[in-house]
Amino acid sequence: MARRRQLYEGKAKILFEGPEPGTLVQYFKDDATAFNSQKKGVITGKGVLNNRISEYLMTRLNEIGVPTHFFIRRLNMREQLIREVEIIPVEVVVRNVAAGSISTRLGIPEGTRLPRSIIEYYYKNDALGDPMVAEEHITAFGWAHPQDMDDIVALTLRINDFLSGLFLGVGITLVDFKIEFGRLWENEDMRIVLADEISPDNCRLWDSKTSEKMDKDRFRRDLGKVEEAYQEVARRLGILPEAGMRDLKGPETMQ
Ligand code: UDP
Repeated sequence: MARRRQLYEGKAKILFEGPEPGTLVQYFKDDATAFNSQKKGVITGKGVLNNRISEYLMTRLNEIGVPTHFFIRRLNMREQLIREVEIIPVEVVVRNVAAGSISTRLGIPEGTRLPRSIIEYYYKNDALGDPMVAEEHITAFGWAHPQDMDDIVALTLRINDFLSGLFLGVGITLVDFKIEFGRLWENEDMRIVLADEISPDNCRLWDSKTSEKMDKDRFRRDLGKVEEAYQEVARRLGILPEAGMRDLKGPETMQ
């Protein structure tokens, strides 16, 4: 079958036109970038694992009533069929333990448990390096309405509680993560839904006992064993691709 029309190519994913109006095919690449694309590389098998991990987490979140763009299905090793949404240009970061930019910015040693979960917002704009913004900027510039922000905060806190518990159950601490939301239109009604992906590319995941990093920081900080860490996350969640590691490169063709 001929390849579908490509609509957008991002750093880690490609979006293709879906089979029906209002649907898209999200393809997960092995490409990895860090530090606003200054560091580039390939993590073999990452796309397959992230496709599976994100499908799993989004499905579990759906089951507790968190609306997501992923309510269609995974198509194959690297692709999932999703609902087309209007992405809100804000990255929502939740932090439970200090790491990364909050440690550098505020001088909090990495690994310090925060007094409570903290939500931060970043304006999605590569040319500006995704600057941190306040809710005031988001509503003043019309990126989202105040009522959208109420939904986003409520959903974000539920997602954080649920995922923190889910990961803790498999011996992993959810240190922080980044999510994105979109507007899903159904006739005249609009709903805010969780979009993009949730995977070790956009979460910090530490082994609960040893604090060993099991996420993209292994790539960012040249710690080695990057593929193994992503695999271990999938293994602990009980979702390593059925066919085993030999298939991790995944089919390149569209279904
Ligand atoms: N993050 C992301 N995309 C970004 C920036 C951050 O997915 O463009 C994730 C990152 O993986 C981490 C969390 O958001 O889980 C917080 O990242 P931080 O602000 O500490 O930035 P970093 O140290 O990654 O530059």
